[in-house]
Amino acid sequence: MAAFFVTGTDTDAGKTAVTAGLLRAFARAGVPARAVKPVQTGCVERAHGLEAPDVEVWNKAGGEGKALYAFRLPCSPHLAARLEGARLDASSVAEACRASVAREGVTLFEGAGGLYVPLNERESMLDLMRELRFPALLVVANRLGCLNHALLSLDALERAGVRVAGMVLCRVSPPGLADAGTSPEAESLILQDNAVSLEREGEKRGVPLLADIPYQARHDPDDAGFWDALADRLQRAAFTLAGDGDEKNDAEALLAFDRAHLWHPYSSAMKPLPALEVTGAAGARLFLRDGRSLVDGMSSWWCRVHGYGNPRLVRALQRQAATLSHVMFGGLTHKPAVELCRRLLRLLPSGLEHVFLADSGSVAVEVAMKMALQFWQAAGREKKRRFVALRGAYHGDTLGAMSLCDPVTGMHALFSGALPEQIFVERPTCRFDRPYDPASFASMEATLRERADEVAAVVVEPVAQGAGGMWFYHPGYLRDLRALCDELGVLLIADEIATGFGRTGRMFACEWAGVSPDVMCVGKALTGGMMTLSAVAATRRVAEVISGADASRGGGAFMHGPTFMGNPLACVVACASVDELCASPWRDRVRHIQETLERELTPCRAFSGVTDVRVLGAIGVVEMASPVDVEAWQDFFVSRGAWIRPFGRTVYVMPPFVISDEELRMLTEAVRGAVASAASHGGTPVSDGREGEALC
Ligand SMILES: *Cc1c(COP(=O)(O)O)cnc(C)c1O
Repeated sequence: MAAFFVTGTDTDAGKTAVTAGLLRAFARAGVPARAVKPVQTGCVERAHGLEAPDVEVWNKAGGEGKALYAFRLPCSPHLAARLEGARLDASSVAEACRASVAREGVTLFEGAGGLYVPLNERESMLDLMRELRFPALLVVANRLGCLNHALLSLDALERAGVRVAGMVLCRVSPPGLADAGTSPEAESLILQDNAVSLEREGEKRGVPLLADIPYQARHDPDDAGFWDALADRLQRAAFTLAGDGDEKNDAEALLAFDRAHLWHPYSSAMKPLPALEVTGAAGARLFLRDGRSLVDGMSSWWCRVHGYGNPRLVRALQRQAATLSHVMFGGLTHKPAVELCRRLLRLLPSGLEHVFLADSGSVAVEVAMKMALQFWQAAGREKKRRFVALRGAYHGDTLGAMSLCDPVTGMHALFSGALPEQIFVERPTCRFDRPYDPASFASMEATLRERADEVAAVVVEPVAQGAGGMWFYHPGYLRDLRALCDELGVLLIADEIATGFGRTGRMFACEWAGVSPDVMCVGKALTGGMMTLSAVAATRRVAEVISGADASRGGGAFMHGPTFMGNPLACVVACASVDELCASPWRDRVRHIQETLERELTPCRAFSGVTDVRVLGAIGVVEMASPVDVEAWQDFFVSRGAWIRPFGRTVYVMPPFVISDEELRMLTEAVRGAVASAASHGGTPVSDGREGEALC
């Protein structure tokens, strides 16, 4: 089963003849093949219905096929559709195309016109191709300007992530007509050189020129000899397409190499958990190599709030890559970094004025810790070297950040002796959705009052604890914490790496309590999850004290500087992501996701094995009585078309904000189904042969 999209450098480049010739070549080689015209304009009324002209040509060549959307007027699809009161959109045309891929052999999808032929006022043929992700065959009209058109098309296809399997060059006009002022000899020379140049340029890009078709003087579609001659010329192209990347072997080899040599997160190198190969993603969907698609319930670990392939982010990255991809940040600066900080200062809680750009969440936490340590050093309070953190916390995987993670789920025992020892306080007991109980602050208060002299900072994930247990606590706790830190002279560090950028229903979770921390870390969704980047923002006071101390105390400079600090690619993507978020109705979307999750996950409480269901913003958590078998649960979810990866005792979803209602329902149904199945199968869900439904 292989599908290709036949596209052209232009209208009348020869696509239909090439498709017809290929069908004949496939037939002669014994490869089952058919063609599909996603959108056909210029159809003719016949007794049995609309007749598609391209299908007629394929039939003459002995091939078969059909048109999916047929219109009468011979013009661009968007116009023909509009004049007949219809509207085309890339995703429904793509769905119809996918449903027409033959189970066996080759299916050729022939586009209409070139890449930027409009489907509607917003989308073009290229959007359809991007959505389909079939490899392309580019038919190049051999005329003056051919090389330019071909290379522009290849660039556009590459940018859209469409692989080009090959090119076919077609002479489309009789000699002597190319240009009034060009002699036939000169013209012939030019057209021959086009083939040579195109082959050379194609080689540079890994795209072979598969055929060079001369002009067919006596083009008689009823003459079988004519089609045979064309099929001869296209034989190599047909063989190349038929054997294009032996998909199955490639996929197996890739997974075998992965198992043998690649270390995945939190897993054994010797006995790895199975991994699925992802070949692309769009919106809230991940595409797997085997043709399935999964709804991403994890936002790739909190970060992909806009889903995948957001055009604003993609364009920002491409444009920046062409001008300045990276430069050291010591002694140099650039607009992407400055623009990002402008945006952050507008959004961050008040008082945060100085921004340090780092390369990942964990590094941001390290940087924040170092800021707190340098602050007290510079202030002459050298004894303040420890941090207070909450049980159930997660702050990252580097040694310093790990020292702040829950000692049990953070596996401190494995690293004892090497981790700095911090002070832990029980996790806030007062739930987010219950009235605030000041008693829940008692253990923090007692600890801080006793040990403030040695404490540099308290580090918390405001309101929502993430990977350490997915726990939501009352904002009143943060207000009390802010007040006590001020009273006792302790810095407050807010780790908003998971909660930032709208996830909890507020831009930052600190806003629930109306507090500003002294230092704040953001990451993950900062770039919409497209690039790795984090930022640490500090108040003027923190920055002043660190910078103003006398040199004998090591003051003056903040001592950190990652190689990829302020990476321009990451910064422009972050700017685009912030702009995209601010321009979107994210509050409404998150509220809608919250309401849906509350409504559709709450019934899980009825099943044995479930101890709690809680929802905050676009995060839904089902807590189980005992740790779950990740592999079995994941298999179940995949069989229902959902990408959900539980851990510990929690099964949770935190979808991209752009998820559709139908996709969100797939996630909640998968969770309910898993919980129900687990309840009747001794705690582990059993996939029930519904796999087929996830296929698309
Ligand atoms: C993910 C996370 C981190 C670590 O970020 P990385 O980019 O994975 O290093 C730190 N803190 C919180 C709250 C997180 O969720």
